[in-house]
Amino acid sequence: MNHSFARLGISAGLLFSSLLHNTVSAAVVDAERLQTLDRDIRQATPQLIELRHDIHQHPELGNREVRTAKLVAARLRELGLEVQTDIGHTGVVGLLRGGKPGPVVAIRSELDALPVTEQTGLPYASTVTQAYSGNDFSQAGKQVGVMHACGHDAHIAIVLGVAQVLAAHKDSLPGTIKFIFQPAEEGVPVGETGGARLMIEQGVLANPAPQAIFGLHVGPGVSGTLSVSRQRTTAASDNFVATITGEQTHGAFPWAGIDPFPLAAQIILGWQTIPSRQVNLVALPAPVISIGKIDAGVRSNIIPAEVRMEGTLRTLTDAQRDDVISRLQRTASKIAESAGASAKVEILPGSYPAGYNNTDLVDKLLPQLEASSGKPVTLGSGVYAADDFAEYSRRIPALFFGLGVTPDGIDPAKAWPNHSPKFLVDDQALPVGVRALSRVTLTYLANNGYK
Ligand SMILES: [Zn+2]
Ligand SMILES: [Zn+2]
Repeated sequence: MNHSFARLGISAGLLFSSLLHNTVSAAVVDAERLQTLDRDIRQATPQLIELRHDIHQHPELGNREVRTAKLVAARLRELGLEVQTDIGHTGVVGLLRGGKPGPVVAIRSELDALPVTEQTGLPYASTVTQAYSGNDFSQAGKQVGVMHACGHDAHIAIVLGVAQVLAAHKDSLPGTIKFIFQPAEEGVPVGETGGARLMIEQGVLANPAPQAIFGLHVGPGVSGTLSVSRQRTTAASDNFVATITGEQTHGAFPWAGIDPFPLAAQIILGWQTIPSRQVNLVALPAPVISIGKIDAGVRSNIIPAEVRMEGTLRTLTDAQRDDVISRLQRTASKIAESAGASAKVEILPGSYPAGYNNTDLVDKLLPQLEASSGKPVTLGSGVYAADDFAEYSRRIPALFFGLGVTPDGIDPAKAWPNHSPKFLVDDQALPVGVRALSRVTLTYLANNGYK
């Protein structure tokens, strides 16, 4: 939802995982096995690229990923996995039971695309339109362009690639891998539920229960480089509506009513004193408060009774979230009250909590990430983008990392970000994603889930 995955690790300095090698003692996956893995990934890559282009050309909005889910389920069945469909609307789960006993681990990919009209000019660009209803019933049913502008097409191809190369050595796998293909990461149509939370409610983390979960997200960055945070990954996201109610009057005699416009202006500025003046900037990075929509009025000389504003709040912990929400409410109602008006702030459905990596898992698996890309891994401290992968990471140990996908010849710092109609994914980064998820999974299983 509303990501800008510049890099999962952009906000901190560089540290190289080799620093950590000496502190980790663990079973390693044998060299021959890794060579076979690399060969299998090389052989699978052309087909995965073709698959991504096909998915890219046929994007579907949240809870409507019918074709995509069918394609994923068919591919998983072809690979010999046990497949369940229609979990949390269009969700698909593939179970790969290894021939040897061991832990259960999950890998997650999203299925959904965004209401964005593609402008990449690629030969496989999407021309699809679909009925869209965001968080506003008044928009329900509007036809919009649809695009895989967050790179979930790449995630699907990568995770199917992992299923393929690990299924090929099923008999020797010490444990079970649960492949979770989740709908509606970008949000649900108005009035519906979905995403990670609904899949969890419908039992995706049970029978068998994974002891850990892995996932990745593509974004601007040198193609094939990886980034990870040792703790905080994605921010909590809360979308809100503020309604300021005054009293309608003529534009020529405002004193005969209560004008909500200056109050809206004061409230927007008042809110910006929360990050700059009210929260402890040493304890935690500041929250982000942004207004994305203002609705009010009908014509120039009528002061309306009401102004309605929509915005998004990004916070980094549960405590910061609760604190800032109460400050948003207090600021709005006290400023409105100062002019005899009233204001209320409502949090819309579809909030995501802040997400965290399991520090111990990151430290143990970082050498695998480094080996997968062949380049230093950027260690960062999380982003203000949100992702409902956080729902899993709040329940079981998780590892979520970033994969740079900016094509060669484009400066990653200037690349179009996720959700842009010009967002590009370099196909050459796909095998790095497959290798990284395969290696962390094999290593986790070889170490019996670090129990
Ligand atoms: Zn997104
Ligand atoms: Zn995304």
